[in-house]
Amino acid sequence: MTYSYTQISQYLRCPRSYRHRYLDGWREKETRAAMLFGRCFEKALAAYFLRQDSAAVLFKEWGAYRDAPLEHTNGDSWDRMAHQGVHLLEMLARHDRIRIRQPRRNLQVKLVRSLPNGNDFVAYIDAIGNLDDTRCVLDWKTTTSRYPEEPAGLLALDPQLICYSWMSGISDVAVVVFVRKRTPEIQYLQTSITEEQRREFGQLVEATVGQIEAGQFLPHSGIRFPQNGCVSCPHLGLCLGNQQLTDAKLIRKPGASDLDWLDLLDD
Ligand code: SF4
Repeated sequence: MTYSYTQISQYLRCPRSYRHRYLDGWREKETRAAMLFGRCFEKALAAYFLRQDSAAVLFKEWGAYRDAPLEHTNGDSWDRMAHQGVHLLEMLARHDRIRIRQPRRNLQVKLVRSLPNGNDFVAYIDAIGNLDDTRCVLDWKTTTSRYPEEPAGLLALDPQLICYSWMSGISDVAVVVFVRKRTPEIQYLQTSITEEQRREFGQLVEATVGQIEAGQFLPHSGIRFPQNGCVSCPHLGLCLGNQQLTDAKLIRKPGASDLDWLDLLDD
């Protein structure tokens, strides 16, 4: 069995949701504009580092969804998102803070690590390169609101960055946040992950895989305001026995054990 960060984090968020998704094959329908835009923008970023026309790539990729019935939030529209994307690509070029040598090797880097019992863990790292003068693991995010920077040190607790550091063995990690707000902004957030954090993450992965293989899928519903995880959970219709909600949000694909790492490119 091959595990990924998305699988582990989904199990930790709610084991029942993991079962719906990975054992029973209930996948969320891909209608969220923000998520699809994130994927298109990532392709444009790859083009930028390959010294290609990144704006043209963005329009080509995002253009495929121009007339699609997508769910837009925050007053977004296809046009507005396209223009924000171009603005952010121009800003990235102006700042010129990121260097990626041999981009064909160092973009979307696939890393695989063996786990006990013949299992594997796989991660696709957005990039390995330099932010200013520091070589680091780079993670891209597109979002509509700024990442919190206070209190100091918060970023070092980000489990996805810890995971990437654990997989790559590189301490320095950075998340480059492309903020699609009225005045677009790029945040370059950098931190260091300690050896102890990497070791603990490895223990967390092994413990979680053990629970999955033991068939423990009790729900962690999290129904208390304001952190109600069920409200944003795509599997809510299944847990409520609400067929209409299930049909609106989900599609069933048997044998659904693919890695779905692209789901990480979320708003
Ligand atoms: S709706 Fe709540 S209990 Fe059900 S799978 Fe989602 S998070 Fe878990």
